[in-house]
Amino acid sequence: MHNQKIVKINKNNISLALKSASFPVLAASLVHVVGDIGILDDLPKPKMAMLGEVQGYLSEEEKALIETVALPLLEEYFLGNRQKDLYVPSDQDMHKIMNYVVGTDVSEDYVPMMLEELNLGLSEDKVNVEPLDVKDNSQFSVLIIGAGMSGILMGIKLAERGIPFKIYEKNNSVGGTWTENRYPGCRVDIANHFYSYSFEENHQWSEYFSKQPELEEYFQKCFTKYQLAEITQFNTEVSSMTFNDSSNMWTVQSKSDGQEYGEVFNLVISCVGQLNQPKLPEIHGLDLFDGGIFHSARWPEDNHILGKKVAVIGSGASAFQIVPAIADDCKELTVFQRSAPWMFPNPDYHREVEEGKKWLLENLPGYSRWYRFLLFWPGSDQLLDSLFVDPDWQGGDTSINETNDQMREIFTDAILAQLQDESLAEKVIPNYPPFGKRMLQDNGAWLQSLQKNNVKLVTDEIQEITHAGISTKDHLSEFDTIILATGFKAQEFFSSMLVDGGSGYFHEQYGDSPQSYLGITFDTLPNFFSTYGPGTNLAHAGSIIFNSECQVRYICSVIDHMILNNLKSLKVKKDTVKTYQEKLEARLEQMVWQHPKVSSWYQNSQGKVVTTSPWRLVEYWRWTKNFQPSDYEF
Ligand SMILES: Cc1cc2nc3c(=O)[nH]c(=O)nc-3n(C[C@H](O)[C@H](O)[C@H](O)COP(=O)(O)OP(=O)(O)OC[C@H]3O[C@@H](n4cnc5c(N)ncnc54)[C@H](O)[C@@H]3O)c2cc1C
Repeated sequence: MHNQKIVKINKNNISLALKSASFPVLAASLVHVVGDIGILDDLPKPKMAMLGEVQGYLSEEEKALIETVALPLLEEYFLGNRQKDLYVPSDQDMHKIMNYVVGTDVSEDYVPMMLEELNLGLSEDKVNVEPLDVKDNSQFSVLIIGAGMSGILMGIKLAERGIPFKIYEKNNSVGGTWTENRYPGCRVDIANHFYSYSFEENHQWSEYFSKQPELEEYFQKCFTKYQLAEITQFNTEVSSMTFNDSSNMWTVQSKSDGQEYGEVFNLVISCVGQLNQPKLPEIHGLDLFDGGIFHSARWPEDNHILGKKVAVIGSGASAFQIVPAIADDCKELTVFQRSAPWMFPNPDYHREVEEGKKWLLENLPGYSRWYRFLLFWPGSDQLLDSLFVDPDWQGGDTSINETNDQMREIFTDAILAQLQDESLAEKVIPNYPPFGKRMLQDNGAWLQSLQKNNVKLVTDEIQEITHAGISTKDHLSEFDTIILATGFKAQEFFSSMLVDGGSGYFHEQYGDSPQSYLGITFDTLPNFFSTYGPGTNLAHAGSIIFNSECQVRYICSVIDHMILNNLKSLKVKKDTVKTYQEKLEARLEQMVWQHPKVSSWYQNSQGKVVTTSPWRLVEYWRWTKNFQPSDYEF
């Protein structure tokens, strides 16, 4: 009964839906229902917002009180004569509601950003841009490379402005990450009601952290809704591109159906992502193995798991999802781990969204936006301060400061509480500071799997792969299947194509140490922009979609400037890049991700972090909102 789909609005169903409410969010929504912020004064106040805690630590009595106030108001609203328009309070009152929902003072710095994210129709800073007031853009041509989350977003925003563009996508469908990673168990590890475009809500996510097919479907739906199909060329892989100084155009070479094509564009936007090119491990004998061997992002159609002896190489984010999903199907499963992952306790990780919650998200005014805000706030910048290394810290090299050490204790206890066999502790408790690598979501599934009778965790170094299996120092284990959960060539930006802005190939100039401005633009590449570029991955905070929205808005501002001023070419100044890089590198030097005990895909071959952002979301939001023409030469 509790989880039946709500089709009819009646007293009983409203009451049922409230059972799955987040009560701080419900209270915020009441402001829109009654049109009066004063209602919050009479309701219990949430204590604080924490990742994974959507009830603000309200007691059962306090939640019951909110429910008692809400029920008759919602009955009147839904069953009586309700106003059609959403009541939107003043900016000042919105700030008060923010403070209420997360139980703390949301600093003034964040308010404009949060108002934009909330997008309740009040803010001047709308995400959606006005179409450009230019009569003829037809001479301006843009190529977007990639139709993943970022390429689709870029396309939506260029289309809104009436700027002509094409999308080239190497695959035969959209979704990028969410179409290529089809391994069992693949899902988001950022809450889905936040991992979605700010302007394109989905109230029907079936799980709080939905699986790959649902993500793929979401992006496909957005692609279709915004009519991007006609301007997208699938099965078209960009192989190289060169900028011509005299024509101020990019000549782009691509391959499609075995044919080579060349086309010219004013401007190129790379949306190829950081995690698109699989990285194979450098292990001798990889090509000798007689059984099935494949990368996690190239999961085969035919079954290599059922009843088989399977090895998983790696224990990062993909392995962490694969192992629990396949453990019961394998005859034997062996996980080869180089370093153990830190995990964040999260009981909702595999949990379904209650039908009542979906109904509230869909129907109750403001509910979905305030719920998103409640997920966003604790998942945004709160953690960042604790990720700086305290130079005076005396607590050893497995933590970086006092808070980090406390976190270490909490996470360690959570691991120990799950172990039946304590001898496993040495293998599964990481020996580097928490948050040094991507934190994984712990609902117990990982350690439960590792403790199954048919599952083994090996921490000895792999020596080689033979035709029969994997050998470590003193043991050869035979396998039918080897899964390479070894990540992506994240540090080699634009590695799927040769990019020459007139001064040589990007990868030859930079190697794995790219220099950019905001991770969006490069002083060697005129008329070229990137989403999810260097230093823009998020490890301290929420969804990559947030950063992509910032980048897309910035790129749109630059294009506006070019078109309105009839500029043929523009390139960010060397000094702008230099100043930004110095600031970026100085900040990263102080952070946990560059700690000597940490080795991760955030780092390049010299151990420097090149993929990940050390900035507060609000800083990055502000910088990308304020395009400065003086940063560019024309
Ligand atoms: C398994 C997995 C789980 C993840 N989970 C999360 C998560 O929970 N939260 C989160 O915030 N992020 C997560 N990420 C990061 C994820 O990559 C981003 O959130 C987001 O999907 C990136 O979108 P994108 O469009 O920038 O890149 P991608 O999704 O990688 O898309 C790039 C597109 O470019 C195309 N392309 C590449 N090269 C060429 C070329 N030369 N020519 C033509 N087309 C080309 C590719 O085919 C692809 O379609 C995850 C990544 C992986 C791999």
